[in-house]
This record gives sequence, C-alpha cells and structure tokens, in this order.
Amino acid sequence: MLDAGHGPNTPGKRSPDNFKEFTFTSAVANYVKALLESYENVTVCFAHSNKEDVPLKERTDKANRLQVNCYVSIHANAYGTIWNNANGIETYVYPSKPKEALELANRVQKNLIISTGLTDRGVKTADFHVLRETSMTAILVECGFYTNKEELVLIRSDVYQKNCAEAIVKGIADQYKLKKKKTTPPKKETKILYRVQVGAFSEKKNADNLIKELKAKGYEAIIVTVYQE
Ligand SMILES: [Zn+2]
Repeated sequence: MLDAGHGPNTPGKRSPDNFKEFTFTSAVANYVKALLESYENVTVCFAHSNKEDVPLKERTDKANRLQVNCYVSIHANAYGTIWNNANGIETYVYPSKPKEALELANRVQKNLIISTGLTDRGVKTADFHVLRETSMTAILVECGFYTNKEELVLIRSDVYQKNCAEAIVKGIADQYKLKKKKTTPPKKETKILYRVQVGAFSEKKNADNLIKELKAKGYEAIIVTVYQE
C-alpha cells in the first residue's frame, strides 16, 4: 500500500511560496504504482485519495483490513515555515525497529541517495501514526525539504519525482526479490513476395510487346510503372 502524505486540501504542508506537499507525494505515488506493477505478483493500492483528505486512522485501518504486506508512506520534508537551509533525505521506521522495516528502510534510503545525490540524513525512528498503527512492515520516506529553495526546485520537477519513485521501487524490489514481468514482443508476420522481372524498358511500346509475348506463352504479366529521376 502506498500512502501519499497529506491530501489536496490539507492546511499548511506547503512551501513558503505555496507549493503543496501533496502535489509531490501523489505524483511520486503514481509513478511508484506504475513501476511496481511491472513486477510479477504485485498488487498496489493507495491509502490516500486525490479528491479529498483521508484521515490517518482511515489509512491505517484500510491497510490492516486489507492485510497488505508492506506500507510505504511518501513525504517531503519541512523545517519550520520559512525558507532555510535544512536539506537532505531521511527514512523512518517505528522506534522498536522491526527487522524487515529496518531492512527495507535501509534499502530505500540507500537508493534515494544514489539516485538524487542529496544529503544522506540516514534512517531514523519516530512514533508516527502510520508506523505505529500499521500491523505490517511500514516505512516513511522524507524526500527532501520544500522549505529549502534549491530542493523545492527538484521537488517540483517531474524528473526528480520519477527519480524518487524509481529509488523507492528499487528498494522494495530488492527487499521482496521481485521479478520483472516478462514482456513478450508482439509477433511480426512478415509477408514475402517473390517478383520475377523479365525486362525493363524506357519505351512503353517495348514493354507492351513483351507483355503480349508472355501472355501468348501463357504467363500472367503486368506492367509496373517506375518513375525515375
Ligand atoms: Zn509530510
């Protein structure tokens, strides 16, 4: 289950120049879903909704009810509400550090740092609702700070959103040893025609004469007109 942090109408949770965190988190979630679905035996669902804010309890209740195997909450970070230099990427697990969640967090964090080149703030622990109230492996990623002008440029960009999604998926695929779906290339039916040519003439009447001769001998013949420069 993918959880794009916050919602379209959540107060706050936006950059000093009014870019919504959810615009980023929902875009990354869409890319993660599409990428994960290129692996065998993966079903992806969303905890959030693009239409309305979904309370945290509803999100974790849904995950527990569906008994999903893994819960990945996607966020971007903020330090206060005005521009500042706080920067980098961090991933969270619950303070009890569940073994599988910690492994997954390490893999995702590592791949996020490799693919973005941003500061590695490491894997941390926090008593977040989505980590505490989920009964399965759960992690929360913070993909850079939207209170940092330079990182916000990235966060707004489609390329960075895709990069983050690819890194998250790589971590998940490594953790669960996912295999890519086999894509069978569509069969190409090539039709081959063997054409027999007996002559080529620049004078039409010579071609007509040969056609007559061939037809007299019982061959089916046609004239193909070729325009040459
Ligand atoms: Zn957030």
